[in-house]
Amino acid sequence: MSTSAAQSAGYEALGLRPVINACATLTRLGGSVMPPEVVDAMADAARCFVDLEELQRRVGARIAALTRNKAAYVSSGAAAGMVLATAACTVGMDQEAHARVPQLDTVKNQIIVQNAHRNGYDYAVRQVGVTVVDVGGPSGTTREELEVAFNDRTAAVFWFQGAMNVPGELPLDQVIEAADRRGIPVLVDAAAQLPPVENLWRFTQMGAALAIFSGGKDLAGPQSTGLVLGRADLIDACRFHGNPNQSIGRPMKVGKEELMGALAAVERYVGLDHAKRMRGFEETVARWVDRLAPFEGIVARRDFPNEAGQPVPWALITFADDATRDTIVDRLRSGDPSVAVAKAGEAAIHLNPMTLQPGEADAVLDRLIEEIGDDSSRR
Ligand SMILES: *Cc1c(COP(=O)(O)O)cnc(C)c1O
Repeated sequence: MSTSAAQSAGYEALGLRPVINACATLTRLGGSVMPPEVVDAMADAARCFVDLEELQRRVGARIAALTRNKAAYVSSGAAAGMVLATAACTVGMDQEAHARVPQLDTVKNQIIVQNAHRNGYDYAVRQVGVTVVDVGGPSGTTREELEVAFNDRTAAVFWFQGAMNVPGELPLDQVIEAADRRGIPVLVDAAAQLPPVENLWRFTQMGAALAIFSGGKDLAGPQSTGLVLGRADLIDACRFHGNPNQSIGRPMKVGKEELMGALAAVERYVGLDHAKRMRGFEETVARWVDRLAPFEGIVARRDFPNEAGQPVPWALITFADDATRDTIVDRLRSGDPSVAVAKAGEAAIHLNPMTLQPGEADAVLDRLIEEIGDDSSRR
């Protein structure tokens, strides 16, 4: 094998093999790989005690400035940020209601979500004790359907950005306009919406009250971090519900190491040459397509954008049938090195350049060509 996956002595001691991730920034595979400056910031932070609340404030102020937002809070993942944002919009800074969470009988306790946007992550919203009010249908929502759902118990509208977006949805600018007229905040789950880097300020500049990002996806910060960006009063309320306070957020601790790691990750990310990075992705995809296209029984082409809607190219490789595809996916994962690829529709896989480390694009290609060769010799 010309190239192998990066090594970890610790994983090896546990009998675990590293995985080459050609899928996406999947939590199940570890989210992302932290660059040296993030690891160094975490190691440096681990050396001494510090006032954790003050650190959260200072880190928040720096991240807010770097991302062109009024305020920022570092949560223990985007999903935890969704819990805190929901608590901020329902309970706010109310001491009495705060003590009763998740029994939200006396406060605004309804969160509106478009039916097409409903997904596994709305569990994080419901955890606070709110009722999710579903508007519209699977193919979309009309302005009227949203308007009639508003009432005096409406705390917020949650907008999900990603694979759940459908052409018939009520667009975000219209949702913001309708909610704004009633003084109701719109919260955006943008967990996987980087790149483009501009999304760090795009949703809040459009008028969303808060936008929530995963720190452990393309930001390549600590896997267990998230960013909540936006309105200062709501960020203050997130703090109020968060660790170290005894509250719904107490089990969602963000350590000093994660706080400093998240800051280093944001500093790095806003300074990256994103255009150059994108050219690198295009080159990788073009190389994969060129090398795979000549094989008989295979169709290889560039696809765009990717599943999360990120403006990143990836390769779509279609095999003769589902069974062939499934066998190859299993053999790539169980082979040496272990390569994870995503199944795509009928008989196809996607190869994603975004999560690959230096040298791994060729390792993926080599392994795939080995498997395709085996497969055609069997036929
Ligand atoms: C990944 C993801 C989350 C959760 O993010 P974590 O940082 O893993 O908590 C939430 N919503 C969407 C749409 C996601 O893709």
